[in-house]
Amino acid sequence: MRCPHCATPIHEHEAGPCLDAWVEWERVGKRLREWDIDPWWQHMLDCYPKFSTDISAAWELVEGMGGIHGFYPFAGGWYFCFYDGSCVGAPTAPLAICRAYIMSRGE
Ligand SMILES: [Zn+2]
Repeated sequence: MRCPHCATPIHEHEAGPCLDAWVEWERVGKRLREWDIDPWWQHMLDCYPKFSTDISAAWELVEGMGGIHGFYPFAGGWYFCFYDGSCVGAPTAPLAICRAYIMSRGE
């Protein structure tokens, strides 16, 4: 899966406004596809919740996520694992949550 804005793969996408916008896009059911072609979308980025850096915003995503087997700390970060055996990790919990959330929404 790649970011609709910057084309970075989900496992490599860093925290920040671009990832926050990607999460919001997934969260609202991809109804904001016009961002893709709107040259002004970058100015909208500051309007979204800071999912990838704010643990309280990120935790709201966890409550809406399905298929999560566990959330584990490891040396240097956090891992989310799904029932299908796939896992995703990141150096911070909010970033790990965002990556897991987007993966949980993917095909
Ligand atoms: Zn991006």
